[in-house]
Amino acid sequence: MSEKENVTKSVKLTGVKGMNDVLPPDSAAVEWLEGKVRSLMARYAYRNIRTPIVERTPLFIRGLGEVTDIVEKEMYSFEDRLNGDPLTLRPEATAGVVRAVVEHSMLYDGGKRLYYIGPMFRHERPQRGRYRQFDQIGAEALGFSGAEVDAELILLAVALWKDLGLTDVRLEINSLGQPQERLTHRQALIDHFERHPDALDEDARRRLYSNPLRILDTKNPVMQAVVESAPRPIDYLGEASLAHFETLKTILTANGVAFTVNPRLVRGMDYYNLTVFEFVTDRLGSQGTVCAGGRYDYLVEQLGGKPAPAVGWALGVDRVLELVREQGLAAIEPPLDAYAIVSDASSLPLVLQTLQTLRAAGVSVQMHTSTGEGMGSMKSQFKRADGSGAQFALIFGADEVAQNLVTVKSLRDGSGAQVTQSLACVAEWASNLQSRT
Ligand code: ATP
Ligand code: MG
Repeated sequence: MSEKENVTKSVKLTGVKGMNDVLPPDSAAVEWLEGKVRSLMARYAYRNIRTPIVERTPLFIRGLGEVTDIVEKEMYSFEDRLNGDPLTLRPEATAGVVRAVVEHSMLYDGGKRLYYIGPMFRHERPQRGRYRQFDQIGAEALGFSGAEVDAELILLAVALWKDLGLTDVRLEINSLGQPQERLTHRQALIDHFERHPDALDEDARRRLYSNPLRILDTKNPVMQAVVESAPRPIDYLGEASLAHFETLKTILTANGVAFTVNPRLVRGMDYYNLTVFEFVTDRLGSQGTVCAGGRYDYLVEQLGGKPAPAVGWALGVDRVLELVREQGLAAIEPPLDAYAIVSDASSLPLVLQTLQTLRAAGVSVQMHTSTGEGMGSMKSQFKRADGSGAQFALIFGADEVAQNLVTVKSLRDGSGAQVTQSLACVAEWASNLQSRT
């Protein structure tokens, strides 16, 4: 055995730490959420965009900022094995969406409303609500500068919480201002932190001159006091920025959306300006942010496009679903309409033909499949039918099949009612079996 083979054989073939398998029935919850999202996005006129999971590494360095947690510590980067191109598994999707929008000149005929669903990758310490591969759902509106679009996106998220039955989600908003205002605030921040050098941790000292705003986003509890007393971006807003913020607040209030202004709220990426917001819950421990976003009016230009304003958010699928579970709103696996019991293997060609017709008519039906020889006893098949949760058993007994018939037995309503149906006209009685609309 070569050394390489030896190594290959000794590696335990488990999944990668922090990257989870989603198995049934849990996968049903993900599909349920995605279904709600797709239907909602359609009602808000947001269209689906699908960008690759792998992008060129400089996209993220330029897009998110060199001095950010993601770029400094969390990216899965590698070289293309042929030409050595630096590539990265996307840690978030906004940069890729903007790249695609620019590359395909999507804004040539006006703004675009887009949404995406898919996996992101960050090399973080795995814990509850924090994984190395995790799904995000995001909405982005590009080409619109008005605060009413910030509001629309927030209303869209609020509508989603309502659709999902979630109640314990609160909204925090803030404004970071425009680049000029941010520069003044930045200098004030540096002055403040320079006065408290001992209160800074290593990350903060390193970022003091490269990216002092990032220090406000620290997760280190020891630094809370120095962050708490730091100058706030909101106190540096000029008239236009304040007006933008006021318009947003007015629209939210008019729509009955409760919010608090959190002047300490900054986000983890450099690309934000003006509005930033987070939806937070207290029910998930320290990973309480379920959805976050804001305006990024300079990113399109920064990534090589014609200047265009933009705003968006991303939600963490795992955290939202954990909140759904936490609130006892278990998403259900789609119920099975029927389970086919087959007494004799020789009936199988006709059985499969019948099931095909039923499925084409919209009925969900599972065929009994034995693991050993033959079909197994009728008793064991009925047990399986019961365990499957199906509403009806379709009993393909040898006598029935010989007469081109099947017995349909109700399994759930306690009646045990049975009717005999003809296999010659399946489509006529198929609708009687259908539970879903
Ligand atoms: P956090 O402050 O929790 O690290 P973030 O600011 O890095 O979050 P964003 O990049 O804004 O998060 O991502 C949007 C949402 O995606 C977050 O609010 C969260 O719900 C989810 N999310 C982010 N990172 C992870 C992760 N490693 N595992 C699971 N969900 C995540
Ligand atoms: Mg993070």
